[in-house]
Amino acid sequence: MRSMIKTAILSLIAIFIIVPTASADNSVSRIDGGNRYSLSVNVAKKGWGTANTVVLVGKKAYADATAAVPLAYQHNAPVLFTNSKNLSSETKKGLTSLKAKNVIAIGTTASVSNNVINQVKKLGISTKRITGKNRYEISTNIAKQMKKPAGVVVVEGHSYAHGIAIAPYAAQKGFPILYTDKKGLRSEISTFAKASNIKQTIVIGGESYVTKAAYNKLKSPTRIKGANRYDIAAKIVNKYKLSTSNTYVARGFGYASAPAAAGIAAKEKKALLLTNEKTLPVHTRSIIGSKNISKFTVVGNSTTVTNTVASQLKNPVVGKKVFLDPGHGAQDSGAVGYGLYEKNLNLDVAKRVNTKLKNAGALTTMSRTSDTFDSLQTRVSKGASANADIFISVHANSNDNSSANGTETYYDKTYAATNSLKLAQNIQPKMVSALGTRDRGVKTAAFYVIKYSKMPSVLLETGFVSSPVDSNILKSATYKDRLASGISSGVSGYFR
Ligand SMILES: [Zn+2]
Repeated sequence: MRSMIKTAILSLIAIFIIVPTASADNSVSRIDGGNRYSLSVNVAKKGWGTANTVVLVGKKAYADATAAVPLAYQHNAPVLFTNSKNLSSETKKGLTSLKAKNVIAIGTTASVSNNVINQVKKLGISTKRITGKNRYEISTNIAKQMKKPAGVVVVEGHSYAHGIAIAPYAAQKGFPILYTDKKGLRSEISTFAKASNIKQTIVIGGESYVTKAAYNKLKSPTRIKGANRYDIAAKIVNKYKLSTSNTYVARGFGYASAPAAAGIAAKEKKALLLTNEKTLPVHTRSIIGSKNISKFTVVGNSTTVTNTVASQLKNPVVGKKVFLDPGHGAQDSGAVGYGLYEKNLNLDVAKRVNTKLKNAGALTTMSRTSDTFDSLQTRVSKGASANADIFISVHANSNDNSSANGTETYYDKTYAATNSLKLAQNIQPKMVSALGTRDRGVKTAAFYVIKYSKMPSVLLETGFVSSPVDSNILKSATYKDRLASGISSGVSGYFR
């Protein structure tokens, strides 16, 4: 017995040693915090360690916090939130641990009270306040405290995400973020731009945010707009070629966590992308895929940015474009056996794979989503116009001999032979272990859709509808779901 345990332990150790570690998931770290005060402190500790100057904003002063990012950058200062009436205990501890000597408070006494200022002073820290009648005036007053800028950013004062998305770039360029309103250009901006001889303006958001009339009054304006805040953040990263070697990710509606994320992204000269708290938005996935981003820092706790989003970022399939082609359809039923119609089985399996891959972070397209028929040529051209990274055709097998059974994967050597083989080798064992079917292995064959698709492509034969054994397995929803998980994890393995 004892020696058996010993052998078991030894072989376990051997397994750990043998498992190759060359391939890896994406790297995802998280800067956490129980509330906005501790989160902003944790961001500061991570990004700065110590800081002579700290910018202090009120708990709900999201506009001030964002407008403060370029100023904070010039002082190499983090932005901390505080309760308005009393210095938050987390913030107080943060100021001490950062060894802060100066605090620049932003906003009115309603936002950062004089009581807070006095509590800061008691820590032996000198203070200064930048204020104004409203967010518009505060933003221009912040700008006046910055080094003379060559350009400015103009955003609508209540569209927090617009300011946040541009803040890392604005900070690096020394451009202040100025707030206007939906009615037109605020006079504070024209006055400031004229006095500072501004040469260039970046406008964030469409005309419903910053009107055409306002835009036309600005010096050499460029407008960045998008379908939503996620798209805008992605477009900014793309247009200004922000470094994605470690990309910060914050919740698009996280008005307290996102300015903190913008601050550290600015300091480290990195890109900032925005996400929905529950799942990565399509536009965010898309830029992650197109730029092959593989290292992320999430800013916010797991209710702000859920672990589902963190898992998607971690999965190497994130942002990859997968084309799924359920074989046959409509008048072309494919193989038939034991009550199974291949066209329906293929569609069922492909839909399940589609769901699994989407949940994993991929961008998917299907050649068909119902009982319709496409020619083989159409399937190939649909895959090409989807600009897919990989092409997967889902089929089931058939044979006159009912004893033929098992699962196999085909690829073709005409285009992308090496990667097609790699894809097949990743998916095949996962299908077999999901279904418990006979492993017929990876094979080559010049099936039309995999011969003419130029991206890495495979054709899956999930099992034999003509086999009493396989057909029973393929009728089971549980097994089809396991199969879909297996295929999805094989696809992740391919991108790993
Ligand atoms: Zn078929």
